[in-house]
Amino acid sequence: MHEQSLIKNLVEKIHLLASSESDRLVAARLRLGALAHISAEHLREHFEREIIGTPLEGLRLQIEEQSDIHHAEAQEIILDSLEFEDSHGD
Ligand SMILES: [Zn+2]
Repeated sequence: MHEQSLIKNLVEKIHLLASSESDRLVAARLRLGALAHISAEHLREHFEREIIGTPLEGLRLQIEEQSDIHHAEAQEIILDSLEFEDSHGD
């Protein structure tokens, strides 16, 4: 299981997307496929270890566990969406 490199790639992708925005990234939502062979808790553990000491540290991670094993992305961990802080509010 190449979970470490998988999550590393995911974090790099998030970092890339976040650096092209002027607003601060506050949360990321992931979809965890039913056949992804990693639990949400374990995914979170790896993810949090991966972002320590980076600008992504403290990011709120939302993991949506999928139950459909016949879904085309059932074996994957998909980056669903990112949530940015609205700095134009005031
Ligand atoms: Zn692990």
